[in-house]
Amino acid sequence: MRRRKASAGGRAAHRMRKEPARDRTLAALVERVKELTCLHGIARVAGQHDEPVPVILQKVVGLLPPAWQYPEIAHARIVLDGGTYVTSGFAPMDTTQSADIVVRGHTRGQVEVAYSEPRPAADEGPFLKEERALIDSVAREVAALVVRRTTEEERARLQEQVRHADRLATIGQLSAGVAHELNEPLATMLGFAQLCRKHPGLPVSVVADLDKIIAANLHAREIVKKLMLFVRERPPMREKIGLQQIVDEGLPFVEARAAKTDVRIRRRIEPNLPAVHGDPHQLVQVLVNLAVNAIQAMPAGGALTVEAFAENDSVVLAVEDQGVGMTRQAAERVFEPFFTTKEAGVGTGLGLSVVHGIVTSHGGTVRVESEPGKGSRFEVRLPAAPPATPVPGPP
Ligand code: ADP
Ligand code: MG
Repeated sequence: MRRRKASAGGRAAHRMRKEPARDRTLAALVERVKELTCLHGIARVAGQHDEPVPVILQKVVGLLPPAWQYPEIAHARIVLDGGTYVTSGFAPMDTTQSADIVVRGHTRGQVEVAYSEPRPAADEGPFLKEERALIDSVAREVAALVVRRTTEEERARLQEQVRHADRLATIGQLSAGVAHELNEPLATMLGFAQLCRKHPGLPVSVVADLDKIIAANLHAREIVKKLMLFVRERPPMREKIGLQQIVDEGLPFVEARAAKTDVRIRRRIEPNLPAVHGDPHQLVQVLVNLAVNAIQAMPAGGALTVEAFAENDSVVLAVEDQGVGMTRQAAERVFEPFFTTKEAGVGTGLGLSVVHGIVTSHGGTVRVESEPGKGSRFEVRLPAAPPATPVPGPP
């Protein structure tokens, strides 16, 4: 357009002299309108918050060819994070104008416009400097879209995390309340059942029944104890302790159980790990609970790997198995009290709630990665204790 020849025909000479200038202004205006239409279209498309990014990019790419000087031979492509969005007829050619999509300092893709036929040279091959400015702003718009989306997703994820933590805390408080109420009557029942059993001359069948009452009572007390651990009311002990020691103390509790079902225990403990501030008994319990679950997940045997390593300012304890694994839906619920997929008597659904309660009270986090049939990996992240500062000696 900008290169359109003046065709003033048989007009007066003075008008012929003015014509090219007016034409150029007009052509420039037409180009400017095309650019603005394109940018406005992109802004409108990018504002469609409920559309997924690929759909938006496919719409954006369609807006590009009409904004270029030769729309009939212009084709466009956007490449972002390995995804490709093209208009029909796009093929990478010599005559291509392109701009990088740079998100937070990293090049994540390109915006390209190509002409499928040769055209006379202009500012940048056949392209105009205005088109350079336009393609650069399109790349910036796409980058801004990516940043916005990432921020939105991050916010949604954090909200979900908070909701999850809230739910756990509420259930936990409720359960702890119930546990306290049950503790008394259970103790009374156990005491009287044991008293009755000591009574001389009881028929054997009554003794057997009393034993059942006592066993059931002990099981109930075990649940109550775990519930009270889940929401601890007094602050736990805090001492400097190494994960090596936790692993050394914890694994013997499960070795016999592991051997019974052909589970091999592998240890990968990084030497010279930073210490953590914590309650050794509770941390041992975390390891034991995770290890017992891992063993139960491998009824036909397999490897149970216990790892400890440092990562940034944290120390990580990982327990990995090659067992039955779990679905995503199950993985989202494992830390809820009473969530269990095991038979009554085998599972209480409290092991991982206790793990979660202990780890959280230590300022740490716990998460799970799992795939059905492949196994599971639980990672506990605890803040590393700062190294001891040497006490200055007397002057
Ligand atoms: P419980 O072991 O008493 O069922 P937990 O809180 O320890 O309770 O675990 C809850 C549930 O999480 C289990 O019933 C099981 O479905 C799932 N789970 C926990 N650990 C694993 C694991 N290592 N592999 C597969 N599933 C697991
Ligand atoms: Mg368990």
